[in-house]
Amino acid sequence: MTDSTNPAPLGGLSISFAPDAPTPASGGPVSIADRPARTEAKVLIVGSGPAGLTAAIYAARANLEPIVIAGSAAGGQLMLTSDVENYPGFPDGIQGPELMAAFRAQAERFGTHIVDVDVERVDFTSRPFRLWARGVEYRAQAVIVATGASAMWLGLESETRLRGRGVSACATCDGFFFKDREIAVVGGGDTAFEEASYLTRFATKVHMLHRRDEFRASRIMVDRALANPKIEIHTNTGIDEVLGESKVEALALRDTVTGEARRMPVEGLFIAIGHRPNTEAFADVLEVDAKGYLVVTDETRSRIDGVFIAGDVHDHRYRQAITAAGDGCKAAIDAERWLEAQGITEANTLTAW
Ligand SMILES: Cc1cc2nc3c(=O)[nH]c(=O)nc-3n(C[C@H](O)[C@H](O)[C@H](O)COP(=O)(O)OP(=O)(O)OC[C@H]3O[C@@H](n4cnc5c(N)ncnc54)[C@H](O)[C@@H]3O)c2cc1C
Repeated sequence: MTDSTNPAPLGGLSISFAPDAPTPASGGPVSIADRPARTEAKVLIVGSGPAGLTAAIYAARANLEPIVIAGSAAGGQLMLTSDVENYPGFPDGIQGPELMAAFRAQAERFGTHIVDVDVERVDFTSRPFRLWARGVEYRAQAVIVATGASAMWLGLESETRLRGRGVSACATCDGFFFKDREIAVVGGGDTAFEEASYLTRFATKVHMLHRRDEFRASRIMVDRALANPKIEIHTNTGIDEVLGESKVEALALRDTVTGEARRMPVEGLFIAIGHRPNTEAFADVLEVDAKGYLVVTDETRSRIDGVFIAGDVHDHRYRQAITAAGDGCKAAIDAERWLEAQGITEANTLTAW
């Protein structure tokens, strides 16, 4: 909800309105229209991908009038893709941005207030929890962190231009589109090998490209790939450009030792060089694992009572829109039950959903 009208009071919480919001300390000026209409909520959700917006739908339908701090990448990772064919309910598939616009509209319909800024800093030492975004302080009794993980890209202009047109960062999501095609996977870790092996179900041939001559992947994964007649491994191979006007047609490759250039005709390129969980604002406060993902206990709980976690920011196993959405649902239900247990909201769990 982007209105600037005064919302109804939230069960005893005091509410700040746009005109009182402080001037932002960083991130450029905030116009009056951009200023948050509400800065206090029983539940505040950070992130507006499938996890965050599903949490918002559930929290809003439980009358919690949540605030969503959507982040500068509002809509999350699905905004980077075209056809989504595995999200249930869309037998003909749906475009990623269209799906996320529908999530957002559904969350807003039930009274979610959404602000498209990034949380920069938090203080979870006491309640209400405090979070800062573009110099504005937000307060909430419960917080759901759903900030996702960003796929790492090579950083080539041609790679960005051809994303969703042959370039992908998700084999599970997009492998099906490459039936009977010759494709390449870039990366040298276990994930790259897993993705290459998965993609052989569809592709006629999978070229694995790796800049070095040694792999981070476990020996067993490398051996399996070596034994797979559909996988060809190219070490010491870097990518200079992804070639093609409207779709991927070939790769311009370079031998990282000799500098020799060559062209490899392929119709798809899967980038499997890792993901970076978006935890900057929380990493000092919440527990992170060895890979930098947030640690969850008991489904959605963090180490701080009242702070819940959902989606790819903790899940490096499934990384799917449907699992992130399911996680957002669980986090909202857990947050609502927790608020009830604290006496902050009235018990209505059994009827609210
Ligand atoms: C190219 C590509 C194609 C894909 N295709 C499919 C597919 O076809 N089907 C499928 O099921 N899955 C697909 N996926 C995976 C799917 O997109 C993710 O699993 C899913 O989006 C994860 O949801 P999430 O809500 O956990 O996180 P995200 O979607 O990553 O959303 C994170 C949100 O957090 C926000 N955020 C981050 N930091 C901050 C901060 N400091 N303050 C405020 N907000 C913040 C971001 O702005 C964003 O809104 C694809 C992924 C990629 C990269």
